[in-house]
Amino acid sequence: MVILIMLYNLHTHSNLSDGRNSLEQIVETAANENIEILGISDHSTVPFPTEWNMKDENVEVYLKEIERLREIYPSVKILAGIEGDFIPGVQNFSQMSDFEYIIGSVHYALTDGEPESFDSSPDAFDKIVKNFYNNDVQKFIKYYYDALLQMVDSCRFDIVGHLDLVKKFNTVRPSFDEQAKAYKSKVYEVLELIKECSLTVELNTGGITRNLMKDPYPSFDFIKLARQMDIPICINSDSHAANTLLKNREIAVEAALSAGYKYEYIPVIDKFQDLK
Ligand SMILES: [Zn+2]
Ligand SMILES: [Zn+2]
Repeated sequence: MVILIMLYNLHTHSNLSDGRNSLEQIVETAANENIEILGISDHSTVPFPTEWNMKDENVEVYLKEIERLREIYPSVKILAGIEGDFIPGVQNFSQMSDFEYIIGSVHYALTDGEPESFDSSPDAFDKIVKNFYNNDVQKFIKYYYDALLQMVDSCRFDIVGHLDLVKKFNTVRPSFDEQAKAYKSKVYEVLELIKECSLTVELNTGGITRNLMKDPYPSFDFIKLARQMDIPICINSDSHAANTLLKNREIAVEAALSAGYKYEYIPVIDKFQDLK
């Protein structure tokens, strides 16, 4: 028996933030690959200069281009989302109402001056921990998950992006123990709030595509916990190129099934579907 599943990806970057390809190249590829739901989610603007966030003046360009592409590629339902950078006490969300959905993510650490992204390289991660968190990785981890708690609690987001991003370099350059009780209970606290606020957790395969890990975000233990708590999941590639829209999806499907999930959830269209 053939069971058709709707192909989708809700976490997609174009060259209007730090992706490689134009929106048109991405949408054309999605159409060729029979992707039915394509959520574009470039990095939101932030109130300081960066290399990878969308520029203020490009927000309108982005929304207009998506509008134009909807006419040209009617087979793809294109959603104008955003990956919103939550930065405690810094980021305001004045432009967020322009978008159809928001992935909430924490990429920035608080420093003495402007916030700095901690996930650009292992060296950047180490430097931030050393210079701004007393060289105490636990202190930084606490900052990260407390920021996530604030983010979830703000109720401005639909999907929690790469829940345990702090583990990004932990395989290539181990800096903390993911099995530690205190670490797990912090993640559990975040999942409880996610449940309470009815958000969706993404299984994000971006770290696998970057050859940094073999499993998605979040780690399997937390996917299992999310399953026990009946938190809906969607599977996203966090694609930064047109040719990786569904990259490593099968690994995330396998993890979700092993954790006991039977369905995935596409939040923007409010639809559950079989995982296989
Ligand atoms: Zn991200
Ligand atoms: Zn992303």
